[in-house]
Amino acid sequence: HAKTGGKNQVAVYDAAFDEGRKHRLAVETQIGRGLARDEFEVYYQPEVDAQTGRIVAVEALLRWPRRPEGPLPPDDFIDIAEATGQIHPLGMFVLERACRDIAPLGDLRLSVNVSPAQFRDSHFERQVAHVLEQTRFPPERLQFEITEGYLLANPERVVRAVETFKERGMSIALDDFGTGFTSIHYLRSYGFSHIKIDKSLLDGLAPGSKGAMLVTGAIMLACGLDMRVIAEGVETEEQAQLLRQAGCHKLQGYLFGKPMPLADFVAAWERSERTVLQASARFAG
Ligand code: C2E
Ligand code: MG
Ligand code: MG
Ligand code: MG
Repeated sequence: HAKTGGKNQVAVYDAAFDEGRKHRLAVETQIGRGLARDEFEVYYQPEVDAQTGRIVAVEALLRWPRRPEGPLPPDDFIDIAEATGQIHPLGMFVLERACRDIAPLGDLRLSVNVSPAQFRDSHFERQVAHVLEQTRFPPERLQFEITEGYLLANPERVVRAVETFKERGMSIALDDFGTGFTSIHYLRSYGFSHIKIDKSLLDGLAPGSKGAMLVTGAIMLACGLDMRVIAEGVETEEQAQLLRQAGCHKLQGYLFGKPMPLADFVAAWERSERTVLQASARFAG
């Protein structure tokens, strides 16, 4: 009997493995088709100045709304695109589209997520320079976000790439801070301009709680290392209040706006700019 059970277990494992493989192969094919048929889109989520509430930056987020099999969130296909190398054309699509879309919007800064595989690619720097030239996007307004996971495996490479982009005027933010294991020593040597505090650190953030201490400490640490701090996933006014008091520079989250299509984002940005103008006119008068 035990023998049969063992056999069944192997069969179940194989089936699950097979399903996973089939799914990845199907998605790989779909990404290729999606790129060829223009099924992808870029959405924009505002980042606001913590003190004034003005929209000062925007994060570009990849979307797949025209996938015939149904929309798939980036967390469900970025990994696959990384494994197959499709992240290179996908990533360039996002960068190109976002630079074109955001270039006309005053001095608004643009954040684009970059995968480790792109950062590692020797052509990446040249391709970025090309897109900036084509779209006339000022490098000073562009920031790349990279996640913590990659840092441990490739510290020297990251330091060098960060330096190269910085020399050209761009900046790099450390995304999802607090989910990985970056040591304080590394954090100092990388030269990031920003850290983005992960949403998971904001969960159940009440004044005086241990969570609040942790977030406050992280902000102090980053400030001490001359980095600016963005909190992502801010959903409540209470979280925003606490983050402001702790000295966080920028806030991003559903409280201020979800990721949205370009037209909606431009409308939100124009409203935000008008509000700032009215406020300064009142002040001058
Ligand atoms: P991320 O870069 O950390 O982006 C933040 C994610 O949190 C986004 O999910 C955003 O929609 C979500 N978010 C923002 N504010 C809130 C909030 O207040 N509440 C909640 N519940 N969620 C919030 P999204 O768009 O599904 O993207 C997931 C991840 O996929 C991103 O995490 C990023 O790692 C990756 N990704 C997205 N676009 C790209 C891209 O163009 N290239 C690469 N390499 N990765 C991308
Ligand atoms: Mg990001
Ligand atoms: Mg993040
Ligand atoms: Mg994330």
